[in-house]
Amino acid sequence: MSEVLLEVRDLVVHFPTPDGVVKAVDGVSFTIERGRTLGVVGESGSGKSITFLTVMGLINRKSARVSGEVLFEGRNLLEATTEELRHIRGDRIGMIFQDPMTSMHPMYRVGDQISEAILAHRNVGKREAGARAVEALRQVGIPAPEQRARQYPHEYSGGMRQRAMIAMALVLDPDLLIADEPTTALDVTVQAQILEVIDELKQRLNIGVALISHSLATVADVSQDVMVMYAGRPVERGTRGEVFDAPLHPYTLGLLSSVPRVDVRVERLVPIEGSPPSLINVPPGCAFHPRCPYRFDPCDRDVPDLRDRGGGHDDACHLSAEAKAANRRERLDMQEPVT
Ligand code: SF4
Repeated sequence: MSEVLLEVRDLVVHFPTPDGVVKAVDGVSFTIERGRTLGVVGESGSGKSITFLTVMGLINRKSARVSGEVLFEGRNLLEATTEELRHIRGDRIGMIFQDPMTSMHPMYRVGDQISEAILAHRNVGKREAGARAVEALRQVGIPAPEQRARQYPHEYSGGMRQRAMIAMALVLDPDLLIADEPTTALDVTVQAQILEVIDELKQRLNIGVALISHSLATVADVSQDVMVMYAGRPVERGTRGEVFDAPLHPYTLGLLSSVPRVDVRVERLVPIEGSPPSLINVPPGCAFHPRCPYRFDPCDRDVPDLRDRGGGHDDACHLSAEAKAANRRERLDMQEPVT
């Protein structure tokens, strides 16, 4: 029986500026279930990071207009006090970012930083906190954790620092882990190792994970559910199999046919033309229409709704099911399975 850990309903985050309103997030809904990873994918400016910073209460509410609901353990986090949010962060929801150096204090030993998090949230002594910190480092695969706990962040490699951040995020046994571009700053081999660590811990601890990335390839192997975002809105949502094997939305199709994949032989990569729109001047109708090779009459006028196209596989596009299937065949049939 699935257990929904986080439910976001119609989240809107707008930032009024002298040049106009930045519509960073414009009607985002999704759920994350225990034991599953939701891969959230989109180019820079798609709203994916702002969505999760809002979930964590990490945006300045004085400079933003926020509406919708962020339900976690039955509580709407948009109504939580600063004190409640501080408790929930770290304790119930762990978070890791792209660059661990921005989250770790360079002047404190790694073990002490993890101990601090424990002491701030748990009624334990320093010795117990230190032992739990070492154990957390061991759990994320850091060798000789007793020695490593006494070292400073600059003495760790990039991959080791990210492992230490994962240890810090999970040491309080949260139910949900939010990982925002956790592998972007790492080389390819280390990226795969970090994703493996997150996936292994998700299964062992039975937590829910939000894995945010600009790349579909990054989330491919470790996500059970996928949401593709464009210009502040979800344009496709479904299980991993639905989104990767039968993509519906032209933007998803574009992402899939513009990057190499390990499971298919790609004859020709086709980049998506143009760049994401300004969030102050989002194009009318479908926001993707200036870049879409399949746009037709209503696309620059009517905003397509995000709708269920069968079995919970949603997309927001005016094209018929037949046209989407034909586009998929045309774009992806040039990619043959690797045998
Ligand atoms: Fe392309 Fe139109 Fe579909 Fe938007 S609604 S993705 S412009 S075909």
